[in-house]
Amino acid sequence: MFDEELDSSPAPADGALRISRSGHSISRRNIDADAIKVLYRLYRAGHTAYLVGGGVRDLLLGRRPKDFDIVTSARPAQVKRLFRNCRLIGRRFRLAHLHYPDGKIIELSTFRANPDLESRGVEDEADLLVVDDNRFGSPRQDAERRDFTINSLFYDIAGFSLIDYVGGLEDIQAQMVRTIGDPMQRFQEDPVRMVRAIKFSARLGFAIEAETWRAMIRLAPMITRSAPARVSEELGRLLDEGAAARSLELMDESGLLEAMDFHLEAYLRIAARGGLEFDPDGKLIYRLLRRCDQQRGQGKLSRPLLFCFWVLPIALMEGLLSGDDEGDRWNTAVFDCVTRLGLARREAEMMSLTLSLFRRLALKRKRKRGQGRPLEEREGFAEALRLLEFFSAEVPAFRDEYEFWSQRLEDRRRAAGPPRPSTGLRQDVVRRPVETAERSRRRVRRRRLPGQEHTDEF
Ligand code: ATP
Ligand code: MG
Repeated sequence: MFDEELDSSPAPADGALRISRSGHSISRRNIDADAIKVLYRLYRAGHTAYLVGGGVRDLLLGRRPKDFDIVTSARPAQVKRLFRNCRLIGRRFRLAHLHYPDGKIIELSTFRANPDLESRGVEDEADLLVVDDNRFGSPRQDAERRDFTINSLFYDIAGFSLIDYVGGLEDIQAQMVRTIGDPMQRFQEDPVRMVRAIKFSARLGFAIEAETWRAMIRLAPMITRSAPARVSEELGRLLDEGAAARSLELMDESGLLEAMDFHLEAYLRIAARGGLEFDPDGKLIYRLLRRCDQQRGQGKLSRPLLFCFWVLPIALMEGLLSGDDEGDRWNTAVFDCVTRLGLARREAEMMSLTLSLFRRLALKRKRKRGQGRPLEEREGFAEALRLLEFFSAEVPAFRDEYEFWSQRLEDRRRAAGPPRPSTGLRQDVVRRPVETAERSRRRVRRRRLPGQEHTDEF
């Protein structure tokens, strides 16, 4: 019923290409049912509303979209009135989030325009950086302010058609990542887009269009002007979406790696010359990341753990695992690496914890018997063991350590027996206090005091 009603909605009058349902491969069956309901409700209330962004791109590619974003002519306050499950977020540009009981969020934004650079009196290239993008606009302006042509298609539930202002469908067919408009300008407005270009190219196996790629090579150093939290968020996405190894390759080739993490870039140069005992062909980090990529189907690796792979080869190169006396240097190196990555506090803490524990696992057999809580009871042990598992698969020198620790874990599990059903009665067993997240945070904080004074407790 709605379909007929909506089929008569006017075609965009501003020169967009409208592709009817027979001209594209999106089936309504693959669209989230709640997203469809939202689109219909907005239409019935007299607004225009389209599915947009990664959802449309992934549907066209036959991939399962991560999320279904919607763009509409309705203003945030109007959206809020229409949906009871709506929360408005964002100070600069208000977005509406619709929350569902299963934890799903559908994001709705009002059509908006790129800030008018000329009216801001832009003279110098450096001034192109966009710091305020709070302007409502038309559907065309909204399509044009997006990053890449492949991310800019609208799917209109009215008539099940695609609306293409920027040649996105053609680029999807050609498997090409291309900025909308002049890449030099678009990357200067927002350098994070360069990292996003790598993400889409690596994840989808798309080429980066030649002019877009040239601009990335020229502008890579500008990435340091972007907010660290945004950069590390995109870096995290590079690592955890199954194409981390390819992403690192592209980061290196474009010069973004040198700009973002020159330590790792320097490591790759040194390792490529050969001569590192644990990394004779200079490809260790690629092999580790490839393992992470393959692992993805069997449960996701956490972001802090993925970032550990980023850091470990450098630590190894600096010889930090060579003996008992290197604890302070190790902690300083880890602190430096974690700080450089600009991660959120909790992620940084988890990473420091995992790396510290990893070092202990890797050195355990060279040490005297330790005192204190057994390592396998500590928070972060499972992650550290995972790190050791991947590492030992690539660096034979760590194999014995990994076998020792996994055997030890197995023995403890066997000794504990199968979990017993609770009797509801008090157990008269005195247990060691469990390492709570707060206690471990305190330990990490202690370790990160200025000057890095750290006593290796082991
Ligand atoms: P993913 O599958 O990783 O979520 P996505 O394309 O959905 O990819 P999001 O980060 O979720 O990416 O952003 C949603 C949409 O918002 C993008 O498809 C794009 O149209 C637009 N967008 C995101 N970041 C930018 C940016 N930095 N500049 C311009 N447009 C952007
Ligand atoms: Mg998305």
